[in-house]
Parts: sequence; structure tokens; C-alpha cells
Amino acid sequence: MKILVINCGSSSLKYQLIDMADESVIAKGLCERIGIEGSKLTHEPAGKDKVVIEKAMPTHQTAIELVMEALQSPEHGVIKSTDEISAIGHRVLHGGKVYSDSIVVNEDVKRVIRECFDLGPLHNPANLMGIEACEAAMPGKPNVAVWDTGFGMSMPEKAYMYAIPHEYYEKYSIRRYGFHGTSHMYVSGETIKFAGLDPEKAKVIVCHLGNGASVSASIGGKCVDTSMGLTPLEGLIMGTRSGDVDPAVVQFICNKEGKDVNEVLNILNKKSGVLGMTDGISSDFRDIENAKADGNHLAEVALDAFVYRVAKYIGAYTAAMNGVDAIAFTAGVGENDKVGRKNICSYLEYLGVKIDDEANNVRGKRTMISAPDSKVKVVLMPTNEELAIARETKRLI
Ligand code: AMP
Repeated sequence: MKILVINCGSSSLKYQLIDMADESVIAKGLCERIGIEGSKLTHEPAGKDKVVIEKAMPTHQTAIELVMEALQSPEHGVIKSTDEISAIGHRVLHGGKVYSDSIVVNEDVKRVIRECFDLGPLHNPANLMGIEACEAAMPGKPNVAVWDTGFGMSMPEKAYMYAIPHEYYEKYSIRRYGFHGTSHMYVSGETIKFAGLDPEKAKVIVCHLGNGASVSASIGGKCVDTSMGLTPLEGLIMGTRSGDVDPAVVQFICNKEGKDVNEVLNILNKKSGVLGMTDGISSDFRDIENAKADGNHLAEVALDAFVYRVAKYIGAYTAAMNGVDAIAFTAGVGENDKVGRKNICSYLEYLGVKIDDEANNVRGKRTMISAPDSKVKVVLMPTNEELAIARETKRLI
């Protein structure tokens, strides 16, 4: 069985064709600048050379048609016809309060995706365009929606309710949802298997530390808390997002700088995080590390604050679950930055966390990085959101 996984952004479309027999990637690629001049498709068939196809892609529909052509091309194709594709799995950002489980797309599902446009204004419209483009290009094939908010939907009310007037929850569904759901679901499940934990009871904390960053706590693979909220702005310090701040900061900046709420929210989303803290050095953690090595004080503070915030969330989630069996690190920073992992864990000695420095000297490979006598298992677990979406799609069809 072959499953096509689609992840649409407002002007981009990422895809992977996965053979579910051995979960191998047969081809993957990226359409960039959809609807903008200079659009191109980068197609990477397994075992063949990568190709770049520069062609106008005015809509997601034309992008999907180009992807289909590339997948079936005599030169760089990997399938003879679309008959070989059993189903398409889509990453969809927001399912609101309605959907937690992945679901085969029908008109009701599309209506909910549309109703959630204001909860995910950049992603939901693009996700729906991707689904409709696949429906047009491959009529009759099942499309499955896998929600980025899905994993967080098992949070109990005490974790997802904001302490604001209840009418806003009733009227506008304002609550904490959490994001990076497919990553947290995949990494917590794989960590349970890899660390040999009880699949029903294991208490796992996943630290998804990339340009966007979030932490989740799960028991037996079910999320009980996660650090992002109504939007991905809440929680950790990220590349460009502030994470948690006193909401009064917004009003204060508005008044002092003569800005409106939208402008300040834009600053908190796009100009804050380690980028903002370092006065604009970079949103890329490698650049911040280099700046720190050159003696830049702001870079040092930004990295210290990032590590400190992650450690505080791990402490909070250990309390929330009354214990923790395993802590997993994933995504760009989590998988590559051994110093960051070590520094976060140095706050956790009181839990009996001990890192094996030799084992921790690793990148991007599933590894037990805790010492044999550590009370909590600590693992590096590379994330694979596409595979998680493909598995969900297979399960549903
Ligand atoms: P992601 O969003 O998961 O793709 O992660 C991107 C982030 O991972 C970027 O900020 C990169 O700087 C960061 N990253 C990649 N390699 C390293 C590394 N060796 N040390 C620190 N950060 C890294």
C-alpha cells in the first residue's frame, strides 16, 4: 500500500509518497512560491537524482497536478499511475473542538476546516485547498485529515480551560488546543516502545524543540497537557515567538509605541523569541550558539532562558503526572544540540535524571542518552510527522 502525505502551507506544498509495506519513502518533494512568480518544484525520488522543475503554479491545484506528473514521469517518476496510491493523508492544523481523531474527509469535515479558518488563519485555508486539489486530481480516492491539534484534545478540562470569562469558551471555543500534535503523538509512542515502557501507563514528556517549540505530557500515549495554547504562541521561547508573557505586555507596548494589538501580536509571533532577545542576531539556534561562543551576552541570556523555560515545563509536567518515566528530545534543536539537552537535564538532577555524556554525543538518531542508573529514561527520538500521518491514514482506510 502506498500513501501520499501532503502538508500545505499558504504558498508551499510538501509531499512524501510512503510505501507502507516497509514504511520507506519512495519520493518526496516541495512546491514553493505557489501563487507567486518564480514557483518551483523540487522532487526527490529515492535512488535517483533530485530534480528541480521551474513552472508556474498559480494555485494549489496546479501544484498537485505537477506533483502527480513528477511521480509518474518516465525519467524521475516512481509509480506508473495514480492507481498505485491508496489514499492521501493531509496535515490539517486546526480541527477546533469538533475533531480529535483523524478522519476520512467528507463534506462535514471540510465544513469544520472552513469554520476553523479564524483559529488557524494561515494554515487551515491552505490545508483545505490541498484537500480539494487532491479530490480534483484523484477523484474517488480517500483523503484523510490528521489534525495538528488532535493530540491535545485528550487534555482534561483543568489543563485546557483558560481562567477567563466562561462565555468566551462557549461563544468562540477559546481554550488551549496545543500544536505539533502528530510529532508529539509519534515521538511519545516510539519512546514507549524504544524504552520498553508500559504502553498503558507510561508517563512521557516530549520536548519538540525546533524553530517552533512545545512540550507535551502524556500518560499511556494520551496527552494530559501541552505547552501551546489557542495558538502556537504560548509556552516555550522559540525561534521568533515569545512563548509565555504577561498579557499586559501587549497593552503596554501598544500604549508606548502607538501600535495596535495586531501589530504587537505580530511582533510576539515573528520578531520575538531568541531573535528578539538577541536584538535580531538570528532565529536559528546555531547562529545564537556561535554568537555566544564569540562572547555575546544577549545570546548567552537567550540560550539560558530557552533552556530554563524547557526545564520549568518538564518540572511542571512531572508534577502534573505525579512522576515521569521518560523524557524525549526531538526536532531540529532537540535532535542536534547535545549541549542544550545536557543543560536542560542538569536542572532535573532532583528527579534522578543522569545523562551519559558519551551516549549524548549524537545527532538525529534514536538513542538512549541517559545513564543506566538514571531514574528517568532520557531519549533522543527523531520525529517523523509524515510517517505518523501515513500510519493514521492507513489505519482509517
Ligand atoms: P526544525 O524547526 O525542527 O526544523 O528545527 C530548526 C532549528 O533547529 C533551527 O533553529 C536550527 O538552528 C536548529 N538546529 C539544527 N541543528 C542544530 C545544532 N547543531 N545545534 C543547535 N540547533 C540546531
